[in-house]
Amino acid sequence: LVRLRARLARSQNALGQGLLTLLSSDKLDDDAWDEIEDTLITADIGVTSASQIVENLRTKVKVLGGRTPDEVRGLLREELLAQIGTDTDRTVRTGPHGDRPGVVMVVGVNGTGKTTTTGKLARVLVGDGRSVVLGAADTFRAAAADQLETWGSRVGAPVVRKDEGADPASVAFDAVSRGIEEGADTVIVDTAGRLHTKTGLMDELGKVKRVVEKKSQVDEVLLVLDATTGQNGLRQARVFAEVVNITGIVLTKLDGTAKGGIIVQVQRELGVPVKLVGLGEGPDDLAPFDPEGFVDAVLG
Ligand code: GDP
Repeated sequence: LVRLRARLARSQNALGQGLLTLLSSDKLDDDAWDEIEDTLITADIGVTSASQIVENLRTKVKVLGGRTPDEVRGLLREELLAQIGTDTDRTVRTGPHGDRPGVVMVVGVNGTGKTTTTGKLARVLVGDGRSVVLGAADTFRAAAADQLETWGSRVGAPVVRKDEGADPASVAFDAVSRGIEEGADTVIVDTAGRLHTKTGLMDELGKVKRVVEKKSQVDEVLLVLDATTGQNGLRQARVFAEVVNITGIVLTKLDGTAKGGIIVQVQRELGVPVKLVGLGEGPDDLAPFDPEGFVDAVLG
């Protein structure tokens, strides 16, 4: 965790230092406040949250009078945590339910990190002593199933796959059946992320979900979102949220951006908590999202 925090800190720090410098300046006039708001927006926090944060900070700073950098840091920390939410339930539910495995569906646009997240999540669960089956329901690219198989053998989880072009729902069905046969705790289904048409996507993900529910229950539908894609990623996330009931967000590639503010915006827009964050390409680079650790990394 310390290593992950350090990695996050490296990419986020610039933002925090910039903000603190601005906030600690002697002349906090309208221009300075505008600049602070712009800095927050540049970090993808979103216009609504940025203006709320600035408004609250202005009020508090006025009341407080002469500010020490520590006080400023404390106020900003409070505001950021209020936007992110500290008492939100961010548990990832993974079953099992009696003799049936819990099912986690991993959805999102191609390239966001779905397969990698599926592999890393399996690694975490197997590391906790749980048995996991993986379903390669992204049948549009043979490479996706190959990639998942590599993860499966790396982390010690069997992978159910079919030929390229097979029905994704039938792969999901077989993966859950295999999970039941093996007495697995969790089945993680990696789905296809083609944003061809909204109805196509809706039909596909809806069918996967219905088929899974014939055999067991879907505990989580995790939407994978690439933190480096900013507003574009958010637009795509909205489409997914319209077609399937998302239960949590995995924000990937947070190691490669200082724009972690997207956490605030995506939660506000979709009304779904960020549950996990991806901090690299390696098997151990997935962490539960910890708001306090995140804000401390941002503020440096
Ligand atoms: P998918 O098409 O959504 O299944 O995406 P992949 O899992 O194939 O990931 C796309 C690329 O992003 C791969 O090169 C991954 O190694 C990389 N990737 C995934 N998650 C992360 C992350 O948290 N940090 C970084 N730096 N790279 C990541």
